[in-house]
Amino acid sequence: MGGGPAGSLFTYFLLDMAERVGIDLNVDVYEPRDFSRPAPHGCNMCGGIISESLVQNLATEGINLPANIVQRGIDSYCMHMDVGEVYIDNPLFEKRIAAVYRGSGPKGIKEMKWGSFDGHLQSLSDKKGACIIDEKVTELRRQDGRIFIKTKTRTEQSYALLAVATGVNTAALKLLQKADLDYKPPQTTKTAIREYLLGTETIEKYLGTSMHVFLLDIPRLTFAAIIPKGDYVTICLLGDKIDSELLETFLNAPEVKGCMPPDWQWDKPACQCSPRMNVAPAPLPYGDQVVFLGDCGVTRLYKDGIGAAYRAAKAAASTAVFHGISAEDFRSHYLPACRKMTNDNRIGMVIFWFTKIIQRLRFVRRAILAMAAKEQESADNDKAMSMVLWDMFTGSAPYREIFLRTLHPVYLARLFWHSFMALIFPSRKIKPGLEGTERVTTV
Ligand SMILES: Cc1cc2nc3c(=O)[nH]c(=O)nc-3n(C[C@H](O)[C@H](O)[C@H](O)COP(=O)(O)OP(=O)(O)OC[C@H]3O[C@@H](n4cnc5c(N)ncnc54)[C@H](O)[C@@H]3O)c2cc1C
Repeated sequence: MGGGPAGSLFTYFLLDMAERVGIDLNVDVYEPRDFSRPAPHGCNMCGGIISESLVQNLATEGINLPANIVQRGIDSYCMHMDVGEVYIDNPLFEKRIAAVYRGSGPKGIKEMKWGSFDGHLQSLSDKKGACIIDEKVTELRRQDGRIFIKTKTRTEQSYALLAVATGVNTAALKLLQKADLDYKPPQTTKTAIREYLLGTETIEKYLGTSMHVFLLDIPRLTFAAIIPKGDYVTICLLGDKIDSELLETFLNAPEVKGCMPPDWQWDKPACQCSPRMNVAPAPLPYGDQVVFLGDCGVTRLYKDGIGAAYRAAKAAASTAVFHGISAEDFRSHYLPACRKMTNDNRIGMVIFWFTKIIQRLRFVRRAILAMAAKEQESADNDKAMSMVLWDMFTGSAPYREIFLRTLHPVYLARLFWHSFMALIFPSRKIKPGLEGTERVTTV
């Protein structure tokens, strides 16, 4: 039920693993969206960044992203703060982060030059033998050890296993709570996405192949990014109940206007939406003959939701094929993967709590900028702050790993030194040698 990344990857792995052990399975995927159509009919509303670790994991599974799906390879990040900005290159100097569209592009798109990421994953499960049913599930019940599903036009079908991958932006969550499945949905919060048509050349000129991230002192804003795509840029705001007032404050911030073209009209987006995001997991992401995957179950806090859907899909498929489909099977073999994510999110919450403090303390922001600038200028490989920022922005490493790196004595000593300098010399230019190369700008 649901053919976004979690549903399609689960289907793909389930059929692949079953084939390898000689089990003959019939899998139906209920998915009402047509990913070949532009938003809102074909879009699953997201920033469209495919993390470095997910690009690698998918490649290991033999799933490569075709050139028409990857709109832009992101090779660096530019971190914007009120105290200045710094470019952080991919530590490995390879373009392995992909910027994609989940559907076929924003509302009003004229030329269909690019393919849909979700559509690509769906085609993989289709090729494995799944039957794609382009309708949404409207009724659901459990009886005599079978799960019964009905759509608006089709007769009721019964199944041995129901994999729920509906995400959180759907009325299906109410349907699931009413059915006899012991399901409580995850906690969610409202986010904001806007798409602006700028044209490829303007994007190259002003944003390049960098994702632009913002650490600004705007209450309730945890993270904001401008992601260059083909002809459009995507602006994403995550935080606590993002509303139009907060969005307007952000879009009019000098740091944001400074990296967009001078004639950019912030109030004229080509497409916009306010999807909800999972911020605390569903308490019980499984039951007898039912498993909840991706956003409607357990995902990663704020980052790499598609990577989290991949991990959940694989763990659930291997449980079903190699162990069984009872609640006990999912508890023993699927729950540990979910717990790992939930525990990591707890550490993520601590990191985001520190980020909130950093957003309030100017001298710490200056210290971070100075430290990252120094590392970016240096030829040696010791780039502790850059790696921490890179992994925080890309979601490529678990929060635990990032947090442990920030506890390293050398990292802490440097941060204290730069903080001390920033306190004593609050308006000193950072790394004058880098000024003018446009890699670092200080205010
Ligand atoms: C603002 C924002 C930005 C984000 N940016 C990123 C990012 O850059 N990178 C990243 O990795 N993650 C990002 N995420 C998270 C990412 O979008 C999700 O983690 C990911 O989409 C989860 O996939 P899913 O398959 O669980 O759910 P979804 O992608 O939501 O897919 C659910 C599918 O279920 C279908 N469905 C719903 N109801 C029914 C029904 N009744 N019957 C049948 N089908 C149904 C829907 O049509 C949909 O296709 C972002 C999220 C938000 C809110």
